[in-house]
Amino acid sequence: MAKSFKMESVEVEMVETPNRRICTRIPAPESLPVIEKLRKFEPVSMSGQPLVVWDKAEGFNVYDKYGNKWIDFSSGVLVTNAGHSNPAVKRAALSMIEHGLMHNYCFPTEIRSELAEKLVEISPEPLNKVFLLTTGSEACECAIKLARTYGLTKGGRKKIKIVTFMEDFHGRTMGSQMAGGSPSAKEWIVNLDPDMNQVPFPNSYYYDWADESRADYSDDRCFETWMGYLDSQGIKPEQIAAFMPETFQGGWAQFMPVGFVKRLRKFCDDNDILLIFDEVQAGFGRSGKLYSFQHYDVKADLVCLGKGVSSSLPLSGVIGRQDVLDLYGPNKMTSTHTGNPVCCAAALANIKYIFDNKLIEKSEELGYVLEKRLDEIIARYPEYIGNCKGKGLVKALVITKKNSREIDPDLAHDIVRISIEKGLLFFAPVGAGSTIKVCPPLVITKEALLEGLDVLEEAIGSAIG
Ligand code: PMP
Repeated sequence: MAKSFKMESVEVEMVETPNRRICTRIPAPESLPVIEKLRKFEPVSMSGQPLVVWDKAEGFNVYDKYGNKWIDFSSGVLVTNAGHSNPAVKRAALSMIEHGLMHNYCFPTEIRSELAEKLVEISPEPLNKVFLLTTGSEACECAIKLARTYGLTKGGRKKIKIVTFMEDFHGRTMGSQMAGGSPSAKEWIVNLDPDMNQVPFPNSYYYDWADESRADYSDDRCFETWMGYLDSQGIKPEQIAAFMPETFQGGWAQFMPVGFVKRLRKFCDDNDILLIFDEVQAGFGRSGKLYSFQHYDVKADLVCLGKGVSSSLPLSGVIGRQDVLDLYGPNKMTSTHTGNPVCCAAALANIKYIFDNKLIEKSEELGYVLEKRLDEIIARYPEYIGNCKGKGLVKALVITKKNSREIDPDLAHDIVRISIEKGLLFFAPVGAGSTIKVCPPLVITKEALLEGLDVLEEAIGSAIG
């Protein structure tokens, strides 16, 4: 088992820059009772993150109550694209609360109409209707339900397969976890649906770097080999209702080859199969496009939205083809908190802010700065960094044992812990526990981004030392 973050405050060097401040032992001694209370009253599953008790977060900074201030490279798990507590988003949410509407169920509201119109307006064809929900898992569940219903209407009970990808993540509710590509995470389900199948992710991290014994699906010319895999699993085109990849795999920020996705799109068109992109973490400018699937230059039939859609309050959704979104009649596809008015106001203001401030372009440009500096860091520590992927302001560093292909979750943990002691915040390593994700809010300045990367470089040096 990988190391956990310890409830012991240690003496660390004081830090004071315009972007960071560390002025207590870390974790801050006065914060420990809060963490102890959480440990007592919350499930253990909630105790995996670094021991920083968030008091306030603004822009690209997170603050505790005790005077410490971090540069945030987590965006609170790729949510706060427009920055933490973005003033425009905050004003919009507050004014909806002050106006006096905090809940609407499925009754019509003006704010929901405005957000639905805006989402369709900014999204490429044929994404013409949107159903708003609350969490990313819920959006994925809903996309699965719509796709299967679509398959049933097109091919009867034999066209119901939902094909997702090994190592994908789509959430932790039953359907979304079943769609995920981690067998150990779904042992609890026991009776897995035989018509939810996982196939290799082309350009998989495993092939690409970690396990050369895996078949090479890294190239669009390998589409036929990949189809051969489907065939070997007994998955026939006429049985498939939908493919649903994560646009890039979150565990390693890994994209598919463009040519491959184009061929997949054609295959879907030829066989009346829906192509769904799970953009819960990939959307709203994160990778230098509004939606990350736009890197593939293909159309989507359905897209799962979440996280960066509001940069703050819980809102998610499925946006897609009108004929698919309209498969259920009145009151047959609803949710109590659908399009909560405060969340809608926040999302609308967030989208306006992202476009007005050209955050998508900024993500692309700063992405090059990030890539160049990470290349230097990798060149300095090539023995310990096995892989680095991503686009725009999402990058993933896979940490390994020295000169080995074996991942090193303990070293990754130490790098994150030491970074935090120096005023740079990451969430706990992901993937198989050894991937450090660099994903700051898109409003980060170039200077703060580079300062954070200097800290990361120092932290790697200390962790190895
Ligand atoms: N899909 C993807 C690609 C995700 O990254 C996540 C969350 N990490 C989810 C779905 C699930 O979202 P939520 O945690 O909001 O249910």
